[in-house]
Amino acid sequence: MKIVLATSNEHKVKEINAIVAQENISFILPPSGFDPIEDGLTFEENSLIKARAAWELSKTWVLADDSGLCIDALNGAPGIHSARYAQTPQERIDRVLSELEGVNNRSARFKCCMTLINPSGEVEFSYTGVCEGSIVNEQRGTNGFGYDPIFLLDNSDRTMAELSEEEKNKLSHRGKALTAVIEYLNKK
Ligand code: IMP
Repeated sequence: MKIVLATSNEHKVKEINAIVAQENISFILPPSGFDPIEDGLTFEENSLIKARAAWELSKTWVLADDSGLCIDALNGAPGIHSARYAQTPQERIDRVLSELEGVNNRSARFKCCMTLINPSGEVEFSYTGVCEGSIVNEQRGTNGFGYDPIFLLDNSDRTMAELSEEEKNKLSHRGKALTAVIEYLNKK
């Protein structure tokens, strides 16, 4: 089964295909012209916007995801603004750490909403994977991307950037959402 992944990021397609390598599913890029305006107010809304945009172009099975980091002491920020909280990944980390300076409540979670649309254009399945943790005082680790070096996993002494790719995929917000989607498709 081929599913269009609502992204223009080829790396994301490769990464997800590696995770589902054992399944009878493979993801492909949308036809050219995929460039939706992500102006939703939630991960769910943005995921749906991307899924619909890719469906309009392909009229086949589509999976979209939208994800980010939500920090309680910052009222859920950076949230849907995670990708543009500052110019570079390091500046985004620095901004979060400086906003949390002197703050005791460090609890945070990564969220990833996935939306699956069928060839008729209906939402078949939607799921938000959550990974609970907290923000460390100083970044650690070099694996992963984005906010991984400052995200300490609950019940662990490691940040997300100190996990191998395989370990991260098992317990990350994205891994959990993808597992739910695959379970849904396998039951169909
Ligand atoms: P996207 O929706 O997958 O493009 O993710 C939006 C932004 O959220 C990324 O640019 C990152 O800043 C942040 N983010 C999402 N998932 C992760 C993760 O697994 N680790 C670190 N940062 C993430």
